[in-house]
Amino acid sequence: MDLKRDIVKYIRDKAKNNYEKGTECRICGSTVKLDFHHFYTLSPLVHNYVAKNKLDPKNILSFRDEFIEEHREELYDHTVTLCHEHHLQLHSIYGRNPGLGTANKQKNWVEIQREKHGVV
Ligand SMILES: [Zn+2]
Ligand SMILES: [Zn+2]
Repeated sequence: MDLKRDIVKYIRDKAKNNYEKGTECRICGSTVKLDFHHFYTLSPLVHNYVAKNKLDPKNILSFRDEFIEEHREELYDHTVTLCHEHHLQLHSIYGRNPGLGTANKQKNWVEIQREKHGVV
């Protein structure tokens, strides 16, 4: 199995129960086909954590709750609700798995697009 992808999936499956998806796109205000975006990409967060703590990815279930607890801000606060179109646009600029160092740039990008759209 693809463990590298799987450990992210295990984290996401558990964490998503607590996601508070907004009711409209932060950029254009659309209320349909909404996606939840993490400014701090889950994949590098998990893999850094595994490397830093010298964990065995096979034991994902034993450290999953701890990881989520230690990353509450990245998982739940540094997030944004976007329509599918704007979500795709963001990832077309910053990549499929944006580097953790781009989080603030992504936030600025979202706010600039929002101003352009004139959503009050
Ligand atoms: Zn939108
Ligand atoms: Zn995203």
